Amino acid sequence: MSNSNMNNRSAQAGPLDGSSSPPKRTNGRSSSGRMLIIDGEGNIEPLDQIYAGTWKISQPGRILSLNQRFSRLLEVPQSITDRLADENEMRRALEEKELVLFYQPQFSAQSGEIVGAEALLRWQHPTRGLISPDSFIPIAEETGFIVPLGEWVMQTACAQTKTWQNAKLPPITVAVNVSPRQFRERYLAPMIEQALVDSRLSPEWLEIEITEGTAMEDVAVSAAVLADLSKMGARISIDDFGTGYSSLGYLKVFSLHTLKIDRSFVDGVTTEPNDAAIAEAILAMAKALNLEVVAEGVETDEQLRFFRDRGCHRIQGFRLGKPMPADDFGRLLQDAKSLGDSRNGKVTTLSVNGGI
Ligand code: C2E
Ligand code: MG
Ligand code: MG
Repeated sequence: MSNSNMNNRSAQAGPLDGSSSPPKRTNGRSSSGRMLIIDGEGNIEPLDQIYAGTWKISQPGRILSLNQRFSRLLEVPQSITDRLADENEMRRALEEKELVLFYQPQFSAQSGEIVGAEALLRWQHPTRGLISPDSFIPIAEETGFIVPLGEWVMQTACAQTKTWQNAKLPPITVAVNVSPRQFRERYLAPMIEQALVDSRLSPEWLEIEITEGTAMEDVAVSAAVLADLSKMGARISIDDFGTGYSSLGYLKVFSLHTLKIDRSFVDGVTTEPNDAAIAEAILAMAKALNLEVVAEGVETDEQLRFFRDRGCHRIQGFRLGKPMPADDFGRLLQDAKSLGDSRNGKVTTLSVNGGI
């Protein structure tokens, strides 16, 4: 929490614990943990930081208790305060627009057209540089911050995709990752619907990615949620396919459109016969079930050829394009459009990037 924020609070009078005398100064620490204060807006700060300014705040503060109930002044273990400090830092980052979406292109393996993008979170930290989502999404997931963050991602990705469509760029499907915690929230379907309404993006351009593990947590509940999302008109994709679960029976009970072959299999398709066999089996099964397949993490020409020759639908990977800021992605679409125009409507972006 920034000092300026703290000082705003300090400007007004009123003791921290609602009593008439200031609480005993402890530097906010004790043997078991630290004191936290939660203000009326739900902001959380360690007590010692409040003491570092003046101790007075506008409203009597509330302190988070161990059992998650709010009370005036309680101690919580360091592990929880660390998590909450992390969450505060993420909340600040979202407000300061340090959290951004990058877009990684997906190409049709057969026509070479750019047909999609996966929206991927990045944290452009002022001092730590670009932070990978693998290091902050688990914390957002644990603290629950993933819920507002995920909503922002959905809103932003839908709005951006519609902006590209409005600019008459080649239309693409945008894939948005939904985490396990988001998936379990009742608000998921209305939240997505709202993002579609707000952005005016037609639902068939949205693909929702959930991992196999998430879908398998409770098959009956997942089947119902996926049916709802599918009814809405959005596409459903199983991310990291092949890594999460050994039973394939769920494929027939879920409303699905796409399987994304995990990078761990794609890596070895041209060097490890077992990986090639698994990838071929997934492609054959998807064909029989009428599902599309995306090969994720394609890095070499050989891998590209492998998937194209076996009827894979979409290719995503560093070989063809890394995740990039929205402006760069817009330029990529513009280039694809110009090339398509010059070729009478046939866009062959794959060949621009070196060919299959
Ligand atoms: P994911 O959904 O499986 O995303 C694909 C990851 O593979 C991305 O990592 C992407 O940059 C990386 N990748 C794509 N092609 C290649 C390649 O050719 N080589 C290599 N080495 N990597 C490649 P990233 O962006 O670091 O994201 C990691 C994970 O973080 C994602 O895995 C997803 O689970 C999660 N994530 C990212 N953005 C979001 C988000 O907005 N919401 C949620 N809930 N999770 C997100
Ligand atoms: Mg994904
Ligand atoms: Mg994946």
